[in-house]
Amino acid sequence: MGRFFITTAIDYANGDPHMGHAFEKLGADCIARYRRLRGDDVWFLVGMDEHGQKVAQTAAERGITPKALVDEVAAVFQRTWSELGISNDQFIRTTAPEHHAGVRRLIEKIFAKNPDDFYERSYAGWYCVGCESFKPEAEIVDGKCVLHPTRTLEWVEERNWFFRLSRYQQFLQDLMERRPDFVQPDTRRNEILGLLRQGLEDVSASRSRFSWGVPFPRPTSDGETQTTYVWFDALPNYWTAADFPGSGATWPAQLHVIGKDITRFHCVIWPAMLHAAGEEIPERVWAHGFIYYGGDRFSKSAGVRLDLREAISRHGPDALRYFLLREVGFAADGNFTWERFDERYLSDLADGLGNLASRSLAMIEKYRGGVVPAGPATPLDEAGAAAVAGYVRAMDGFDLKGGAEAAWGLVTSANQYIVQTAPWSLAKQEKVAELDAALAALARCLVRLSVLASPFMPGKAQELWQYLGQDASVAQGWSRAERPNPATAKVRKPEGMFPKPPPPNP
Ligand SMILES: [Zn+2]
Repeated sequence: MGRFFITTAIDYANGDPHMGHAFEKLGADCIARYRRLRGDDVWFLVGMDEHGQKVAQTAAERGITPKALVDEVAAVFQRTWSELGISNDQFIRTTAPEHHAGVRRLIEKIFAKNPDDFYERSYAGWYCVGCESFKPEAEIVDGKCVLHPTRTLEWVEERNWFFRLSRYQQFLQDLMERRPDFVQPDTRRNEILGLLRQGLEDVSASRSRFSWGVPFPRPTSDGETQTTYVWFDALPNYWTAADFPGSGATWPAQLHVIGKDITRFHCVIWPAMLHAAGEEIPERVWAHGFIYYGGDRFSKSAGVRLDLREAISRHGPDALRYFLLREVGFAADGNFTWERFDERYLSDLADGLGNLASRSLAMIEKYRGGVVPAGPATPLDEAGAAAVAGYVRAMDGFDLKGGAEAAWGLVTSANQYIVQTAPWSLAKQEKVAELDAALAALARCLVRLSVLASPFMPGKAQELWQYLGQDASVAQGWSRAERPNPATAKVRKPEGMFPKPPPPNP
């Protein structure tokens, strides 16, 4: 096992966190917790993208400074991630002086290596403040941006710094060839290959129209200091994170977790920038899909809303974590519905894992005074070992849904095992050895399950771990998933782990 530096996209500080933000953080958190469980030295970075014209405009509309606005938004995001049990080691904000200094240093490294990687170019076009970019004719309908029909497009002429992205075409093609798993899943890799086949155009690296950002380190030829444009400000956060006091981040990152809509920036512009600066390329980019609600994607601009706090409080944060990661593949798109959430809560948690733990531990209390007996290996142990192997295969490949399926498949096996062995009738017939064997096998299975469930439901897994009389933290219990040995442990029947019935639909 080794070092594992994992990041998520930084969220734009222009609204509250929604289910889409939460899905990404949860997926990355589940991966980070799994890597820690396996013994990796993990550094997990999340944060905020706090610059740009929209932030400045929103602040102006509210009559506050941009800094006051981003402080407020960052606090809401941090509180939400804490409520959801996101185990990030660092929360980066692009307004921090360390980030400003890092951005300027990265740009200077590019100037130093290849002075003409940046050049000045005049540009004129219709500019959408909503997109914070110039819009091609194809994306303008009735004089408005198709994505922001309520905003007025502005005709803008300016002279900016450009980055010679086109120079890195061959480098990127070679990178994709040499490291076929650099971009995953494969659908996203194919998109990037397609983009590269079309040829790359140079991208703007600075803007003259707003000042809420990092000053570009070199003035233009007419002496103007411009503001660093989004790619050169936001993307380097992964790299500047190591410059912060106390940070354990070490470049390169092992994994960037991002949404599929920003794959181009992370798999084309970002590696080109790093290579231009003489820096290493991250090991892997994982682009997840989107969560939809009533057929629409969660986003501020689309107005699709669902109160994340309501979803957290409905069955508790761990249930929401489990539901999203079990229901929606981390490579795919999926739907959120309250009905499905309640169904899964009942079937997988209350009637599934919760009921299994409750009836198994109640029998150990009733028949063995709460002390786990010793017993030989059973078919349930074989199912347990197979579940652990399947779980590892899935989780190593970031298939979180597959990991949850492997673990909950074992819940099903254990419930069947109870029906087949009928411990209550073994007790009635005073078949001591057989009863011990069944109870011991169930306790071993529950130890395994609490470890496997811990990246998905860290709080509930730890509760179960304690009901099982296990010491220390379930997060350090991987060896007990492989070789559970709870004999002689004192267990207690769980109380109210997954209460029923759920509240009525909102
Ligand atoms: Zn727009």
